[in-house]
Amino acid sequence: MFSDIDKLNEDAWNLRNSNTSEALRLCQNALLKAQDQNYTRGMADSLVTMGFCQFRLGNYQEALVTAAQALELFEALSDLAGRQKTLNTMGIIYGQSGDLASALKTFLQVQKLCQNSGDQDAEANALNNIGIIYKMLGEPTNALEYHLKSLPLYEATGLEQGALRTLQNIGTVYDDIGNHQEALKYYEKSLEKQNKEEDPVTYGLTLSNIGICHRKLGIFDKAFEYQDQSLKIMERIQDRLGESFVLDEIGLSYFDMKEPEKAIDYLEKSLAIKHAIGDRKHTATTCLHLGAVYLELKEGHKAIKTFQEALSIVETIQAKNELYKSHHGLAKAYKLIHSHQLAFEHLSKYTELREAFHAEVSDQRFHALRVSYEVEQAEKEREIYRLKSVALAQANMELTQLKNQLEKLANEDPLTGLYNRRVFNEKLETEFKRVQRFDGPMSVMICDIDSFKKVNDTFSHAVGDEVLKTVAKIFKTNIRSIDTVARYGGEEFVILLPETQAKEAYTICDRLRQLVETYPWHKIHKDLSITMSMGVCDDTHSKDAHEMISKADHTLYAVKHNGKNHVRIWDSQQASVLA
Ligand code: GH3
Ligand code: MG
Ligand code: MG
Repeated sequence: MFSDIDKLNEDAWNLRNSNTSEALRLCQNALLKAQDQNYTRGMADSLVTMGFCQFRLGNYQEALVTAAQALELFEALSDLAGRQKTLNTMGIIYGQSGDLASALKTFLQVQKLCQNSGDQDAEANALNNIGIIYKMLGEPTNALEYHLKSLPLYEATGLEQGALRTLQNIGTVYDDIGNHQEALKYYEKSLEKQNKEEDPVTYGLTLSNIGICHRKLGIFDKAFEYQDQSLKIMERIQDRLGESFVLDEIGLSYFDMKEPEKAIDYLEKSLAIKHAIGDRKHTATTCLHLGAVYLELKEGHKAIKTFQEALSIVETIQAKNELYKSHHGLAKAYKLIHSHQLAFEHLSKYTELREAFHAEVSDQRFHALRVSYEVEQAEKEREIYRLKSVALAQANMELTQLKNQLEKLANEDPLTGLYNRRVFNEKLETEFKRVQRFDGPMSVMICDIDSFKKVNDTFSHAVGDEVLKTVAKIFKTNIRSIDTVARYGGEEFVILLPETQAKEAYTICDRLRQLVETYPWHKIHKDLSITMSMGVCDDTHSKDAHEMISKADHTLYAVKHNGKNHVRIWDSQQASVLA
């Protein structure tokens, strides 16, 4: 249903690096359609791509606002993958705009998110990104640590591609600290493992990185060889940004070789592509390179023009590193044309901004340290909270179990598992009161095992206990669901029969009596036989529940005196005799 929007967003995302303005157009289009159709996920997808494109075009603040909108939508959708992707984008924006502490914080959040979702591949990517930020913060040791942390995760997911990326990143850390020999080792190791066809982007990038190392080591023939190979790949797969990077590098190699004319050629080509893409930050970088070549050629005016272009870009996008470098270039260029006043002004700007930049970096380093501590702390607190709630739930469960056990102990007769006398009396009371109000029938029955003392004496107390349990079981399994049976005392049992008149109660009880009498007691002991006597009372006009029980008990007494083993109903005639 929304497949056209999804397609637009997918195309836009894929084009974000190679043709940023087209990508932007596509996702803006997708956003309008998604808004029109109230398609939240589509809106979120559009926004995250839009944010990325705005960033590529150098509008960092706008990009962050857009990405934050995407994040909010993905959060509302509980879309973990979307959140990861958006936070990742935000981290890249922060990193490129020079807000390294926010970048670090964001990537650390992504890492935790992935850790919780179990997405090892994405977690490894996050670890790599954290490493890159540490590298930018001038902390190569931390950078290496994080890059290395990603390796086992990639291995676990079997993602060769990721491990290759890590090798690359480790290479750039060494490159950064000026150990090009070591960097080369990692790049070459990475290249060895790569399949040119499978992932040409990475392959091309690695070739280019190897070329850079060779240039820095002064081995120019090798540098060109690798950059040429890389360039061919970038052209073939139409990775315009990649192509421009390589062209830039070739230009720098010629520059280092003291062939400035050729350097200008390549740098101009690179610049044209970056202009076309609209990637402002990298346009500025190339301008800085080009300006340096013009300086070398003593072409003051061209140098000024080029550095001015860089300056105006970096001033708008607030790329601080490039900002002071632009002033430095301008200072040299003005000096070249003997505009000493302007040269001095730019030189002052340069020193001032450079100092500010370095102060800011060390500030950021400190801030980053705090940020990583805070993220760790927040994570720990979340874990503690989780453990606490688990412990709390556990304690609650134990408490409930304990309560149930206590309740059982308080209400049950331990030998037979029947209700005890207290519970029975409560239920009887309640039922009696109900009957008083609604004037319906009810009966109570009390019974007693005949000559039970003899059972104990003849067989044993254990056999007696067995008999009690068996009687309880017979009763429990044969009464109606509305009836309540309880052990009233030693070998006495009671049954509450709601909504039941004496006649019906008699039938029910006599059936129970017969079941007891006919039970195969010889299974407990070969000479054992058991009978019971029962008294029933349905006189709901009794003074209280207790009196009903007494009347039933008097009736039972009568049964005991009249041969036992039968059921009798209380009648008022007896009352005087038995009172
Ligand atoms: P009757 O037919 O008149 O009821 O005679 P009886 O022997 O059953 O009555 P009596 O009251 O003389 O004896 C009751 C016996 O029940 C005495 C007591 O030891 C025994 N008894 C009470 N509670 C238990 C019990 O939990 N287990 C066992 N094994 N015996 C019990
Ligand atoms: Mg008895
Ligand atoms: Mg008794």
